[in-house]
Amino acid sequence: MDKVLTTPMRPEDATTAEDWLAALADRNFIGGVLTPAAASLDVMEPAQMRILASAAASNADEVGAAVATAKAAQPGWADTNARKRGKMVAAAGRAITAEAEVIARLLARETGKALATECRGELAVSADLLEFYGGLGSELKGETIPFDPSVFATTTREPLGVVGAIVPWNVPLVLTMLKIAPALVAGNTVVIKASEEAPFATLACAVILNRFLPDGVVNVVVGNGLVCGAALTAHPDIAKITFTGSEAAGRIVYGAGAQRIVPVSLELGGKSPMIVCADANLDKVVTGAISGMRFTRQGQSCTAASRIYVHESLYDAFLAELTARLDKMVIGDPLDEATEIGTIINAKQKATIDRYVGIAEDTPGARVVRCGTLPTAGVAPDLYAQPTLLLDLPEDSPAAREEIFGPVCMIQKWNDYEAVIAAANNSDYGLAATVWTDSMTIALDATKRLNVGYVQVNQNLTIQPNLSYGGFGNSGLGKEASLEAMLEHFTRKKTIVLAM
Ligand code: NAD
Repeated sequence: MDKVLTTPMRPEDATTAEDWLAALADRNFIGGVLTPAAASLDVMEPAQMRILASAAASNADEVGAAVATAKAAQPGWADTNARKRGKMVAAAGRAITAEAEVIARLLARETGKALATECRGELAVSADLLEFYGGLGSELKGETIPFDPSVFATTTREPLGVVGAIVPWNVPLVLTMLKIAPALVAGNTVVIKASEEAPFATLACAVILNRFLPDGVVNVVVGNGLVCGAALTAHPDIAKITFTGSEAAGRIVYGAGAQRIVPVSLELGGKSPMIVCADANLDKVVTGAISGMRFTRQGQSCTAASRIYVHESLYDAFLAELTARLDKMVIGDPLDEATEIGTIINAKQKATIDRYVGIAEDTPGARVVRCGTLPTAGVAPDLYAQPTLLLDLPEDSPAAREEIFGPVCMIQKWNDYEAVIAAANNSDYGLAATVWTDSMTIALDATKRLNVGYVQVNQNLTIQPNLSYGGFGNSGLGKEASLEAMLEHFTRKKTIVLAM
């Protein structure tokens, strides 16, 4: 059946980012319909410092309408054969791949992230997550439990109901798919609270998903955190909250879940250490530092390797090679194919970054090294930032301890293994870490002792489907990206005991 969409542009006809913006401006996506909201907010195109389009600024009633729609759709969706649910989700992944280029352009314009180095990859990983989880429908298994011979004891996995998924702006599509792909395959329906900074690519992907799913299974509301996000977390029909964002908002969201006694998963910030040992390969390590620090995402990554500890025997060579390579990276218009580094998302985030660099500049003995060249033509210069290295910072400096969420990393020299492990663990966060060595003994010892949820040796990859991802300490609660994440966070386990 054709779905009727009353927008200035039908998404089915959209062939450019502008077409999608015309279809999605001021809209939520509820029950398969792009629904106008009563109020709107401006979404900026940070590379040009102009308004890209206006988006919905949803109120509690609009959030309530989305939750009611998701609630009505949930029993039918839960009763759909689990493998069939998975196949629909996987098909949506392939459809997103087919439209990836235009949505990647939309993403580049709303986030300021470079098309070539970031946005195309984000679309690919998002589609891959849908395909990965789409294959896991038949893994929603229970157990039989040996008990009394006259009793048959078993467990089943049930969906939770309506899942509220709240996402930030830095990798909005991947972070959305990490939540909704397992939630949907497990038989839940979802209401996504898209980021008010970058809602359009998320809306576009939801519209594409909906072509394969019953109306009401995937819904999106757009609005700010304090009104729209808070209305979602407080709604009595939300059975589970899954949140990615800042530690501060995470604490509020966790509190809202506690008030209603519903499960909450939190993926929060990080200050991830990278330990480079004396025997590490310099070329690999410098490549790993650039990719691990997510310089092509302007460092706006929760797993950014923002504390790099380099053995003293490699320190000078590492610094020379790193600065030489960063100097060559192209900072510029996110839509330009040559651009490797785009813009910071907004003025508030840029001011935060500048404040931390200022702290380092004012610290006696510390040094600040800025790399690369800021663009001078074709863009508005306001939100561009150079890759910046903070050297010889004291361990207790706020710039060394707090998440900066920009292209700024601290680099420290070390010569004592015990001291560097202690320094790496001296953090309230515990999201990720990497260790660079050819020594099996050091690799095994360090991976055991580092107090983080995700530790890699001799590589610094982003989130991978099938590998559980999630932090310890103030970095959050719960895992994403794996089968375990679907079973533990998007189902509830029922014990059934049958006496013969
Ligand atoms: P943010 O916390 O300001 O916002 C995240 C989302 O939460 C947005 O959609 C926002 O509208 C909503 N929100 C804000 N306050 C809310 C409230 N009181 N109730 C309900 N919803 C609310 O974060 P941001 O600035 O969008 O993103 C950057 C942060 O996200 C960084 O701290 C970063 O570390 C974190 N992050 C973590 C991960 C991870 O996997 N651990 C991944 C990406 C980003």
